[in-house]
Amino acid sequence: MLTALKDSDTQNVRFGAGCRRDIGRSVDALGKSRALVLTTPEQSGLGLEMAEYLGARAAGVYSCAAMHTPVEVTQEARKHALSVNADCLVAVGGGSTIGLGKALALRINLPQIAMPTTYAGSEATPILGQTENGVKTTVTDRRVLPEMVIYDPELVATLPAAMSATSGLNAMAHAVEALYAKDRTAETTKLALQGLGAFAKGLQAVMETPADLAAREETQFGAWACGSVLGRVGMALHHKLCHTLGGSFDMPHARTHAVILPHAIAYNEKEVSELLRPIAELLEGTTASGALWDFARAIESPMTLKELGFERSDIERAADIAVRNPYWNPREITREGLLELLTNAYEGKRPNTNSPIIPGGDNYDQQT
Ligand code: NAD
Repeated sequence: MLTALKDSDTQNVRFGAGCRRDIGRSVDALGKSRALVLTTPEQSGLGLEMAEYLGARAAGVYSCAAMHTPVEVTQEARKHALSVNADCLVAVGGGSTIGLGKALALRINLPQIAMPTTYAGSEATPILGQTENGVKTTVTDRRVLPEMVIYDPELVATLPAAMSATSGLNAMAHAVEALYAKDRTAETTKLALQGLGAFAKGLQAVMETPADLAAREETQFGAWACGSVLGRVGMALHHKLCHTLGGSFDMPHARTHAVILPHAIAYNEKEVSELLRPIAELLEGTTASGALWDFARAIESPMTLKELGFERSDIERAADIAVRNPYWNPREITREGLLELLTNAYEGKRPNTNSPIIPGGDNYDQQT
């Protein structure tokens, strides 16, 4: 049953436990009748389940979506979609599956229904990241924004606790950087704070009781709000650094966001402390960076780049790559500053931005 229906700019967004079973009516609402279901190999069972709900409206299941949307996979999926005469797409999965739907929409202009099973938020943005010959590039194009998003909390209830924590922090990072984006508006700030509020409340409850559907629905609302702001304003240091670490060092997407977030915010905090203050209030801390670090630790998220397999010897190269690619940020990006940030993220020290910034690191507490 559909329990809620919201309209954003050009997207129908539905929330409700069990609403995935009503997928046939959603396809009808698009005026289509042959849906190709997309998913990953790991979620192929879910893809088949969706095909069952679709019944005669199912054109097939393509379950080869992969991380970072490789162009070779998109080309194969395009052939498959054309061979089965698909007239729309149902992407059921995380950011990788939704990325494949977007990549196909860009090439063959099929309408998409996205059914997220993580909190990454890609379903709410007109942004597509794709990889060709080992290089990841992004395009922003209204055609890739899914026409419909269906948030069924039962789908995300299967997300393991560790992935729930890191995927939630990945989504929160979009909203945190939106608070100081140079093109922010009162509306994007309101949406960002709604998203952060939903995660502050819902994520802890999800960690305690993963099957708590009300808490899952709250976090899905957070994912929609955080994803929506990601698509509406420019991102800064945090996202660019995670892009460097993912693109050049093959670091895992959500877990890298989770580790870097408090440190990137500590880097910027002095310049934009007033804009970040609501985060400290929401998470009941004294500084935004410290409160984010404490929140991440409370939900048992990884706290160090070291435990994600990053090598200390790669810190200098990562800083060099990130500093070579200048972008807007509230504080000037310097190699020295990035070295300090990455070293602290590698070691997992707790930011303490109440102290003056002293090169060499006295502005960080030891992890306890
Ligand atoms: P993912 O989609 O790669 O999923 C990771 C793994 O978890 C996969 O094996 C998947 O099958 C599995 N999984 C997903 N949901 C599950 C569930 N509920 N239960 C059990 N297993 C589940 O991970 P992600 O973090 O959601 O997405 C990362 C990708 O999304 C990256 O490529 C990133 O660049 C992209 N992304 C794009 C945007 C955008 O706006 N373009 C925004 C955010 C992320």
